[in-house]
Formats: sequence, structure tokens, C-alpha cells
Amino acid sequence: MLQVTELILTKASKGSLPNLIAFVDMCFNGALFVRSIKLIRVEGREILAFPTRERKRPCSRCSRMVSVKHLYCYKCGEVLPKVEESANRDIYIDMVHPTDSQVRLRLLTMVLKALHGDVVYDGGFKVNVRRDS
Ligand SMILES: [Zn+2]
Repeated sequence: MLQVTELILTKASKGSLPNLIAFVDMCFNGALFVRSIKLIRVEGREILAFPTRERKRPCSRCSRMVSVKHLYCYKCGEVLPKVEESANRDIYIDMVHPTDSQVRLRLLTMVLKALHGDVVYDGGFKVNVRRDS
């Protein structure tokens, strides 16, 4: 079982994005670190946003890989077809993410306990929590 062994919580500073509560780094099984998970508040509830990167596509003229958000190739100036922004999944690719909602909820519950200063357990084992500010 994937178990959280360490959790590092860094509260967002004033002036950062308004819905950003904290950055979270998690170590799993003492062997795999995932950094830059964001605890954010959306429509009144907290969620964990896992690391993503922008999707890229090749320029039709010069083959340079360009973000799907860009309307022009920054190397040759070619006009690129617009990608609909109807869903973030068209623009961003998850680098790491829970495979199901139970895992997502379990991780969120641990992060919220850490945020409130509570002792955090995962699978009966105490998680090493560090709170940076
Ligand atoms: Zn180009």
C-alpha cells in the first residue's frame, strides 16, 4: 500500500493567488517525494491540485514544440490553430495524480489535519509532519 510517511506544509503567503491555501510536499513509503501539490479552495471547499504541465504541440512550419495556449509559434511566427479552453484537460497534463477518489480524499484529509495542527496518521502509522511558514 502506498503510505504517506512525510508531509511538508507551507502556507501560502499574503499576495499569492487568492484561492491558494498552502503548498504540500509528500513522501510516500519513505522513497518517493512529490512536491508542489497545491491545497486550494474552490467554491467553498478545499481540494488538492496535483502537479501539472502545459500540453505542447509541434508547430506546423518549423516543428518547434509550442504550448497549446499560444496562438503563434514563438520561433517562426506561424499562426497556430486555437485550442478550445473548454476544459483544463485540453491544456494541462497531470504529472502525478491519485487514481481514484478514495485516495484523493484520504490525502486531502491528512493535509487538512496537518493544516489544523493535528497529529496525522496514515495506515496506523504517524506521519512526520513539518509546517513551514
Ligand atoms: Zn514554428
